[in-house]
Formats: sequence, structure tokens, C-alpha cells
Amino acid sequence: MITIAADLGGTRVKLGIVRDGKVIQQTSIPARSRNGLSTQLAEIADEIDRLLLSLGLEHRQCGVLGLTFPGLVDAATNRVRTTYGKWDDAPGIDLGAWTKARYGLPLVIENDTRLALLGEWRAGAGVGCNNLVLVTLGTGLGTAAIVEGQLLTGVHGQAGILGGHFCTNRRGGRCNCGNVGCAEAEASTWALARIAEALPEFQASPLRTRDSLDFDAVFELARQGDACALALKAHALAVWAQMIVNLIHAYDPERVILGGGVAAGAGDFFDELKTIILSHAHTPWGQVDIVVGKLGASAALLGLDALARRRHPELA
Ligand SMILES: [Zn+2]
Repeated sequence: MITIAADLGGTRVKLGIVRDGKVIQQTSIPARSRNGLSTQLAEIADEIDRLLLSLGLEHRQCGVLGLTFPGLVDAATNRVRTTYGKWDDAPGIDLGAWTKARYGLPLVIENDTRLALLGEWRAGAGVGCNNLVLVTLGTGLGTAAIVEGQLLTGVHGQAGILGGHFCTNRRGGRCNCGNVGCAEAEASTWALARIAEALPEFQASPLRTRDSLDFDAVFELARQGDACALALKAHALAVWAQMIVNLIHAYDPERVILGGGVAAGAGDFFDELKTIILSHAHTPWGQVDIVVGKLGASAALLGLDALARRRHPELA
């Protein structure tokens, strides 16, 4: 089966064609997620058409169009349930009807981190392991869990994916979910500027003159010994470790996979983060395996294909 896969990220829309469980062509375009999805659907469709044309394929040779979404999705109705400041008009769009009208194909849509976990489980860092947690570190913090070979979804689609909204600081800042002090509000890219500006070291730090703050800049300056960057890095590692320890206690994984844009620079922090996690996790049975994902941006695309096969076995 051929799956058309689109990963609706906050900063990039990644598009791929997956055939027989392999991404055979992929590209990406800038995401205008703050402007809503309805204004970008036509551009996404044009890019999909270009991908298919480059492979000499037509829509009718494909089985499913799949979308990942950075929020809560109702699998029963194929509708987006909740958004967090990205693609905020999506709950009002009947994406199944759009897919049918534009391509004549059924739609499969799921949460992006859950699909990245499915992809890593099938073809990446989770192969052969049936008790897994995946954490994406990036613009936000995404999580997902597989327990005894079952990808957790839950009756409302929430199970496993709200680890970024575990409270790690009850006196912390307001999160975009409505709670305060969530891990995501304490140590994700969108919260970085607020956390940095509150540090006394910020005024004298080169970080103050950057156009935008991200973890690449923080790790780069931390390597140079900048006090503000070192404090931010220590804070982020403590928050990520606290969240991951909570995930370990909640879902009893044998392996935790780190993914997302920030994990691409894991060389700067992996050993330190792993040490903090393992020294705080209560696992009398042994030690959780902490690894970095193998598939990068392809993970969610492969996960979409795996989910499409599961939901539409008649097409596989
Ligand atoms: Zn939150």
C-alpha cells in the first residue's frame, strides 16, 4: 500500500510518500501554524501533488492520506479535538471530507508524538521492545507510551500524550493548556525566553542579543561557559528528567526514546540527562534503557503508514 503522509509540525510541514513501510520520497515546507490550517491546505495539497508527480504516481494508486497533528485527536470521528496555539482552526475543519473531495482517499489522523512512537517501534529505536515511552523535546514537549505491546490512546485520546503537561513547578508560569508549571511551560522552546529573562545572569549574557532563543543557542553558549546558558541548561535537564521519571513511574517502560528537534543535539546533554533520570527513577527491577530515536523526521511518517495499515487492513 502507498500512504501519503503529512506531519503538521509547528514550524515545518513534513510530507512523505510511504510504500511498503519505507519513505520513498519526502520534502517539507514552512508551517504557518499561527495562521491556521484552512489557509495552508491548498499549499500542502500542491506539494503532495508535486511529490506524487516526481514518482510518476497518481492519487488513485495510493491507499490512505495520513495527517499527524500536534494536539488531541478524536480517532473515532477523525477530528482534531484540542489545539495548543498551532493550527487553531483545525477542530472546525472536516479533514475527512476534504481528503475525500481532494484525493478520493480515506483519512487517518492521530497525535504526532504517538505516531513518532509507532514509527520508532516498527522501524527504529523501539524495534523488539513492547514497553516504550517516547519523549519529543522541541517547540513543545510531546510524549507517548506503549504498554505490553499496546499503543496507549485512552477513551478520550489523552492517554500517554500529556507528559509535557505534568506539573513540575506549582509556582511556575502559565502553560498553554491552562495549568501552571507544566514541564512544557518550564523547559520547551516556546517557554525559553520567559525562563531566560527571569534569570539574573540574563542581562550580561550574549543570549540577550539573539533574535530568537532556542536550545541550540543555549547549548552553544553553555559550551563557552556563559553563566546564563549554563543555568538554563541545568534547569531544562532537571525538568526533562523530572518529567521522564514521572513517565517511567506511570508507564513502566523498558526503554525511553528521546526524539524531536532538540534531541538532534543530544550530544550536548545526553549523558548528563541519563545520569539524572537513572539516579531518580524508582525501578527496583533494573535499569530503564535511555536512547535517542533513530528515524528523526521520518518517524511520524512511518507511524502514519503503520496506523493506516492497522485502520484499513483491506488496503494493505
Ligand atoms: Zn500544560
